[in-house]
Amino acid sequence: MALFDRFKRKKEQARENDENIVIEQEETKETVEDEEKGKIVSTPQKQMENGLESDIGDDKPNKKEKISLFTKFKQGLSKTRENIGGKITALIKNNKKLDEDFWEELDEVLIKADVGVSTSLELVSRVRESARKKKISDSDQVMSLIQEEVKMLLEAYDSSLTINQDGLTVILVVGVNGAGKTTSIAKMAYRFKQEQKKVMLAAGDTFRAAAIDQLQIWADRIGVDIIKHQEGSDPGAVVFDAIAAARARKADILIIDTAGRLHNKANLMKEIGKVKKIIEREAPDAVQEVLLVLDATTGQNAISQARIFQEATGVSGIILTKLDGTAKGGIVLAIAQELKLPVKLVGLGESMEDLRDFSAAIFTAALLGE
Ligand code: GDP
Ligand code: MG
Repeated sequence: MALFDRFKRKKEQARENDENIVIEQEETKETVEDEEKGKIVSTPQKQMENGLESDIGDDKPNKKEKISLFTKFKQGLSKTRENIGGKITALIKNNKKLDEDFWEELDEVLIKADVGVSTSLELVSRVRESARKKKISDSDQVMSLIQEEVKMLLEAYDSSLTINQDGLTVILVVGVNGAGKTTSIAKMAYRFKQEQKKVMLAAGDTFRAAAIDQLQIWADRIGVDIIKHQEGSDPGAVVFDAIAAARARKADILIIDTAGRLHNKANLMKEIGKVKKIIEREAPDAVQEVLLVLDATTGQNAISQARIFQEATGVSGIILTKLDGTAKGGIVLAIAQELKLPVKLVGLGESMEDLRDFSAAIFTAALLGE
């Protein structure tokens, strides 16, 4: 009996731990501080102060356009580049021979950069095998092998957004609070609008009035329509109305914002699952994307979050934000290897143009190239 009780308690503890995963991110210092000041986490005004708005409504030729995509990735990834590329280069310099020590240290560099234990092991074993086959025993030739394997891993899944060229595309954006959903939605809307597409937004984060206001301000600034209901209303009803409006107004793309903060994981997942069902029922002919927004600065925790969302809604791709502010960009590799999901867009900075299409080749070169 005692044994059974212990077993039961362990199971309950495991379940409680599991339920904490989603809300963990809500306890970050920034969020808590902002909450204390009574502000919402991110407002277009706040981002204006950060210089984010300079791209909108500015008809002067944009200097940033001249920066090549590669340079943009290289700049955005600078901290991760130092943490992975820089450390591997140092390792190669200090260990001339590809011996057991070398492989162990390579594994350690990768794990420390949030590549994850199983992904690091897999990657090292592939590079090792490749070195053996090519009869390479000196470390000065190993970087190109590492690049090859990293690129291959990242190319395994199609990273392009699926957009209906001839009808409606519905993009459901999910993720925990503070991950960057609303700002990524604004960046996507801005970009689609530049491409002459008719974009609509749906304020499916009805949890707080501030979240609805935030999306409204973005919609106004970018110049796109928004469908919203009152705070506390049913997000399913917002999505239902938004799909009807998107059809009536012949929109090309409807992007749906969702809440990332509910009092527990089960509620959040239930709500998002319901929204997903409404999309499937009301827009079965539309191309559907479910994009999970993950904050790269959370490192390995992002993987646990992703598993939960994957289960609740199915996820077609990842938007990985805040790569510019972190050395934990190795998480990109773990997403591919462990979640078997493509990273479709990456956040490389706070300006409107800093949400970029993910490219395995450019990412690899920016991470490990010269
Ligand atoms: P949400 O709660 O998921 O809707 O998150 P928000 O869109 O409100 O974003 C939270 C914060 O992350 C804001 O201050 C954003 O400016 C910031 N943010 C989002 N994406 C990026 C990014 O790619 N890079 C940087 N540096 N900040 C970002
Ligand atoms: Mg939001």
